[in-house]
Amino acid sequence: RTVLRELTEIKNPDISPIETLPDVNPNVFHKRHLKKIRDLGEGYFGTVTLCLYEPTNDGTGEQVAVKALKEVKGQTSESWIKEIDILKSLDHSNIVKYKGCCTEMGGQVVQLIMEYVPLGSLRDYLTKRNGLPQCIMFAQQICEGMEYLHQKRFVHRDLAARNVLVENENLVKIGDFGLTKYIPEGEIYYRVREDGVSPVYWYAIECLREGKFSFSSDVWAFGVTLYEILTRCDPRQSPRDKFVIKNGDKTNVGNHWTKSYRFIFSTYLMICKYFYQQVKMVMEQCWNADPAKRPTFEQLIGRFKDIRF
Ligand code: ADP
Ligand code: MG
Repeated sequence: RTVLRELTEIKNPDISPIETLPDVNPNVFHKRHLKKIRDLGEGYFGTVTLCLYEPTNDGTGEQVAVKALKEVKGQTSESWIKEIDILKSLDHSNIVKYKGCCTEMGGQVVQLIMEYVPLGSLRDYLTKRNGLPQCIMFAQQICEGMEYLHQKRFVHRDLAARNVLVENENLVKIGDFGLTKYIPEGEIYYRVREDGVSPVYWYAIECLREGKFSFSSDVWAFGVTLYEILTRCDPRQSPRDKFVIKNGDKTNVGNHWTKSYRFIFSTYLMICKYFYQQVKMVMEQCWNADPAKRPTFEQLIGRFKDIRF
């Protein structure tokens, strides 16, 4: 809503105090000045493109990442506006920065403009060459961003390597707040009863069984993300590809997952058995079946700080 208000204020000279200088609002991007450079990636909900924003046409433009919504069944423009509003309200060094948005004529289609994070997603970035200290540093930074998000009472609900962006070899940022929900003060979880695809391989057991999303279910997803980081996002070890249901009922992945998660997680831990013991322990704690027994992000930051190589 705020986003739309901001845009209409600029468009409607009657209510805009700055009608002679419409470009003064740095959050409004005009479509005609956005020039596509290349595709950056896509997820289930959106496509992200690298663009040059150059209102002056004099070579002083800036590179921005532009996210547009794909046409997905059941996806409402309301949830899209929410995603934009959430990102806009966040300000942390480990969270991708909101820059503004862009509407088409009539104010219908809104694109989200973010800072361009040059090295792409963690899933595409990590390889065998990345050492353990760097992996742990990234893991800790994800925890810092998540701790901030939880302080603001948001549950992310889609924490995974594909949604973490790499700025440089020393800095990662959480991106993609498409499934993020606000948890009101005094409550501890958000209950979802929605059909449609979900990142089930990152879902805590109570999410699958009861549709309950809490700060602790984000910690579970962080455990899976940590597993991805430790395996350097090797596609052969990926949670999604490792346990795809080859012949079974694909419409009931959640059910299958609920039944076999103990087996799956012991496999993850086995794969990681050659990794640093302290890190493996952290992963295991994130997957405690009792959400109340999982560490918080604040505690996780402490554990990572204590790790000595
Ligand atoms: P979806 O909601 O569809 O999952 P994402 O926001 O996760 O979309 O973006 C999809 C992909 O685009 C990411 O996995 C990443 O590779 C790339 N991407 C997203 N945002 C940026 C950005 N700000 N800078 C660079 N690449 C990005
Ligand atoms: Mg994504």
